[in-house]
Parts: sequence; C-alpha cells; structure tokens
Amino acid sequence: MREKVYDVIGIGIGPFNLGLAALLDPIKEIDSLFFEQKEEFDWHPGMLIEGTRLQVPFMADLVTMADPTNEFSYLNYLKHQNRLYNFYFLQRLEMPRNEYNHYCQWASERLKSCQFSSKVTSVTPLGTPIDRYEVEIENTKTGETHSYLTKNLILGVGTIPSLPKSLRGMSEEDVFHSSTYLQHEDRCKKAKSITVIGSGQSAAEIFRELLKERTEHGYSINWITRSKGFFPMEETKLSLEHFSPEYIDYFYELPQEQKDEIFSNQQLLYKGISPHTITDIYNLLYEQTVGGKEMDVTLMPLTEVNGISEKEAKSGYELKCRQWEKGESFLIESEVVVAATGYRPFVPNCISGLSNLIQWDDLGRYNVSKDYKLMLNEDTTGEIFVHSGMQHTHGVGSTNLGLSVNRNKIIINQIAGKEIYPPLEDNIFQKFELNS
Ligand SMILES: Cc1cc2nc3c(=O)[nH]c(=O)nc-3n(C[C@H](O)[C@H](O)[C@H](O)COP(=O)(O)OP(=O)(O)OC[C@H]3O[C@@H](n4cnc5c(N)ncnc54)[C@H](O)[C@@H]3O)c2cc1C
Repeated sequence: MREKVYDVIGIGIGPFNLGLAALLDPIKEIDSLFFEQKEEFDWHPGMLIEGTRLQVPFMADLVTMADPTNEFSYLNYLKHQNRLYNFYFLQRLEMPRNEYNHYCQWASERLKSCQFSSKVTSVTPLGTPIDRYEVEIENTKTGETHSYLTKNLILGVGTIPSLPKSLRGMSEEDVFHSSTYLQHEDRCKKAKSITVIGSGQSAAEIFRELLKERTEHGYSINWITRSKGFFPMEETKLSLEHFSPEYIDYFYELPQEQKDEIFSNQQLLYKGISPHTITDIYNLLYEQTVGGKEMDVTLMPLTEVNGISEKEAKSGYELKCRQWEKGESFLIESEVVVAATGYRPFVPNCISGLSNLIQWDDLGRYNVSKDYKLMLNEDTTGEIFVHSGMQHTHGVGSTNLGLSVNRNKIIINQIAGKEIYPPLEDNIFQKFELNS
C-alpha cells in the first residue's frame, strides 16, 4: 500500500501554526498535520501574569483578519464560554493574555490536525527532484517514533529566550530569564533583593508585579536598563500602520544592508513598554511613597550590566554595572536577578538534514522569498514555508499576531494553487513610496 502523503505538515504549534491549522480546517482538499512537543497549547507560560493583556486588538485572533466567519474566531470562543456580554462590558479591545492562551487551547483541542506531545526530531528530503519530506516524530510521553510524508513543510518553532553571556553560569534558581518568571515567583517572594534587567514589555510587567507585592514581602527592587530611558512602545495610529501588509511589501524590496539598518532603528515600534503599563507603574510608585514613606526601589536607565559573580557564602550576587553616558562603573548586590533580555530566532535541530538544501545569507540567516518560502539550492515540487527567523527579510511586522493571519492566507493560497483567501488591499492611509 502506498504511504499517505500530506499536503502540509507544520512543525510547532504556537499561535502562528495554530492560526494556519484553523484557516485550513474548512478546506477539505488540503490534508494537513501539525506537531507540537508540549502536552498542550501553552503560550509563553512563564509570562502569563495576571493583569497582562495582549498587545494587539482581539481581531488579531487566529482567523478574523482572513475570515471573520471561521468558527475559531475569538468572538465564537466567547460565545462558547458564555462571555460575550462580559467582554462587551469590559469595553476594551485587548483580551487578557491568559484568556488568549485559553482561547488558543480551546481552538487546538477542536482541531483534529493538531497533535501534541509530538516532537519533530528529523526531516529528510526524498525524491529526485525532491517531491516530499519524511518527518519523524517522537511521542514525548511514550518515546515511540512515527514518520509521516508531506509535500510541503511549515516551520513554526518560534524564538528562544536570549540570556546574555555576562549573566550565564549562575544558579538558575536565582538568575533566570523573564520567560520563566512565574516558575520563580516563590523564589522572588523569599528574596531580600531583586534586580530586573531590561526595559521592554516583559521587564515592565515583572517590575510592576514585584512592585505590587513589595510591601507584603519586603524585598528591595532595582530596575536597570542600558537604554536611555523606560520608553513607551510607539502605539499611535499612524505608527501602527508599520504593521500592515503594505509596509511588509515596501520593506521586503529594500536592499538587505538598508533593511538591517532600518530594523535596528525601529526598536520602539516593538520593544518599548505599553503606555498603560508605564502608567500603572508610576501610579504604584506614587502611592507607595505617600507621606514620605521610604521605598527601597531604584530605577536606573543608561546602565549596562557587564558581569555577575556570586558573593561569598552564597549570600547573593554582585552585578558589575556601568553608567555608559558618564563612564562610571559600580557594583549592585542582589539575591535574585531577572533578565528580561529578549528572544532570538533559532534554527531547530530537527531540520539539520535540510541544511545543504536551504540557502543561508552571510550571517547564517534564512533567505526567504516575499511569499514566505525558504529559498532552496535545488528544484523541489513542494515548499518549505517559515513563520519566524525572517525579521531581516520581512521586518518589524513578522512577529506580529495580526499580520501572521495575513501570512497564513498567502501560504494557504500557495499550497492550494488557487486564491482561497483573497488578499486585502488599500489597508493604510500613508504611502511608504510614491508608486505603491
Ligand atoms: C511574552 C510574549 C508576549 C507576546 N505578546 C505579543 C502580543 O501581545 N502581540 C503580538 O503581536 N506579539 C506578541 N508576542 C510575539 C509573538 O506573537 C509570539 O512570540 C508568538 O508566540 C509567536 O508565535 P510562534 O507560533 O512563532 O511561536 P511560539 O509561540 O514560540 O511557538 C512555537 C512552538 O513550537 C514548538 N516547537 C519547537 N520545536 C519543535 C519541534 N522540534 N517539534 C515540535 N514542536 C516544536 C515549541 O514547543 C512552541 O510551542 C509576544 C512574545 C512574547 C515572548
């Protein structure tokens, strides 16, 4: 009997591949499977802090920007949860982050194409020319392996936490990345001093949480960033138009050198802090100092942390700091250090068998076509699509939830060989170039 060949297999089930699975669900002529190593959908669990919100409107759910009538929309989820009126009275566009997670879990449990506890361990190209891929899966509960054949692949493996070299090698209980903050919450509560490093949204959310609990647990807090300040994310309406299909099209066509330069100067579009989080923090600082109350809390911009060492008798850590504008070096003592130092793209080990097939740029990054295909060194009948590791080619919007739905439309239309989800045109008021 001939082995079944799927039309597409997705590696990883984060929001990007889950959205793809949801949009593929009604299209019966495309046979798809998605594999996730975790036991269930779980979106950045270490950062599901109560009170945090999605940073995009609820319309950036898994499907709405492609097809609001798809059954996996957030509004349909609310209907199933009997929460339509609650959300209506909430009068907010952004859902809580833990509700986004619950919504995605709800969708993933209903999508037959999504398989969990399934780690993709290898991918082997087959045929001359290559016309299919063999995808090997390990069941993370039983250790059993299975292989599946597919014409097209889609990599949705996300990014990994980035801990600077200067902070590595210490006890992971005490010095950890923000991605595991909730797992370390109890450790924080027992500490005498805590230092948060970074000035993005994660750093601010953790600082706000620690500040709220400070009077109960009695620790001191330092909030340190190399940046010039604790700046807001640029969220005004015309700036948000950078997260549009039009800006991706404009950015994609620029020379690579220029793209790298532009991207490095766009940090406030995606790396700053939501204004409402800054307001919460300021309000807490104000209230906690009423009547001249002492507060052992220090906020330090312009300060880089260059190294860490453990103090004698394991009584905490010394952070080597430098106020770079004045060139002053000093030490800060802290029992716990939270590095909110961001995430970076990575190439998963499971595709090492494809490394000769894939085209890489001089910096070891994927070369990605405008329509999200990896550029390959050989002719193939199918394609390898990607969701991450392409900020250098597609720019600032490539990690945005709302734009991922547009990317999924483009990918599905290519797999189907016809226009199933028509593109949306004229989405913004500004022109990034005259003839666009
Ligand atoms: C804390 C946080 C909050 C964010 N909030 C927002 C926001 O509000 N709005 C917004 O637009 N963007 C946000 N982002 C950015 C982006 O939307 C998210 O990072 C999003 O999770 C990316 O989705 P993904 O599907 O690419 O990857 P991920 O969510 O990282 O999922 C990738 C999955 O692939 C799995 N995997 C990896 N390798 C394998 C393998 N070999 N086999 C099987 N499975 C594998 C992983 O286990 C993981 O579950 C946020 C990012 C972070 C870190």
